Amino acid sequence: MEKRFADQVAFVTGAGSGIGRKTAELLAREGARVGCSDINEKALVESVNAIEKAGGHALAIPCDVSDSASATAAVQRCAAELGGLQVLCNIAGVLSFQHTEETTDEDWHRVLGVNLNGTFYVSRAALPFLLENRKSAIVNVASLAGLIGQAYCASYCVSKAGVVSLTKVMAVEYVKRGLRVNCVCPGGVSTPLISNFTPPEGADAELISRLSLMTKLTRPEEVADAIAYLASAAARSVNGVALPLDFGVHAA
Ligand code: NAD
Repeated sequence: MEKRFADQVAFVTGAGSGIGRKTAELLAREGARVGCSDINEKALVESVNAIEKAGGHALAIPCDVSDSASATAAVQRCAAELGGLQVLCNIAGVLSFQHTEETTDEDWHRVLGVNLNGTFYVSRAALPFLLENRKSAIVNVASLAGLIGQAYCASYCVSKAGVVSLTKVMAVEYVKRGLRVNCVCPGGVSTPLISNFTPPEGADAELISRLSLMTKLTRPEEVADAIAYLASAAARSVNGVALPLDFGVHAA
């Protein structure tokens, strides 16, 4: 069977863990040369080694997506060393739970810095390369939290709502130039990020009851499957969507 990303280059942020690692592995199995990026260099090397052991082609490109210069340099290195760029997956992210009145400036800026600024910095740096092709794709990882108001995670919800908005803006702005931009909005995914989830002290259980509909966690491989579909030629008419992967919680 033909590989969906044969002869393509993909840049994946957050590739050291969870959804990012599974996405990098899948794209590599499907023929892409993958620029794997993460702030955690040790985890990043493990991801790249696993891909190469499985016969794939990957390059470790450490970067802090919340730093504009670091993000830009990483994208440029990927395109220079792997030969262009057709697919960008913005997956790096951080989560924070607390009462809004207790959210510090530092925490607010940290979460917005990685999740929203990071997605913007990497995307902006990637645009010149993506637009060289007539067919290219960005897939952002937003969240169900970007579609609903979820108590106790103001910085996270706002950052992910921003990612959904950036996705739609760019989808419209670049459609005539052959670039599609979509995002996935997972509910809970079984990764280290969610295993650290604890509601803050004094949280009102009723206010987070909507999440009790989420009786199952999505597997990171399943999110990677959705990302790969949205990045692939099979999704050629799909542009500007925010796809919930949440067992229907958003619909409810
Ligand atoms: P994870 O913690 O396993 O992976 C996140 C990765 O991002 C880590 O490897 C981390 O080192 C990297 N990272 C963090 N800050 C970075 C920075 N400044 N620069 C570069 N890399 C950085 O978590 P995950 O669940 O795989 O999360 C991936 C994405 O999915 C995130 O954007 C997260 O918000 C989103 N998401 C996760 C869930 C969930 O339940 N796990 C649900 C919805 C959305």
